[in-house]
Amino acid sequence: MYIRLSEHFATPTLQRGRDYANRGLVVDLEPLEDGTLRGRVSNGRGKTYRQQITLGRDLIGGICSCPVGHNCKHVAARSC
Ligand SMILES: [Zn+2]
Repeated sequence: MYIRLSEHFATPTLQRGRDYANRGLVVDLEPLEDGTLRGRVSNGRGKTYRQQITLGRDLIGGICSCPVGHNCKHVAARSC
């Protein structure tokens, strides 16, 4: 489940993630005691997806409630 951010997020996924971040669609970020992050990202059309993200030094494992499921653009938005 762990991937390297720049190598394994497809470039369009990273770009869309940055676009989400720039548009202010990142709703919430909450660090948990075990070192993971819990986040929420809106899709800009009234739906909000939840992410649970584990960050290593340059590794990332992200689970999302959207149809993609993990390491999607919502996780990328959290990680930029
Ligand atoms: Zn997602």
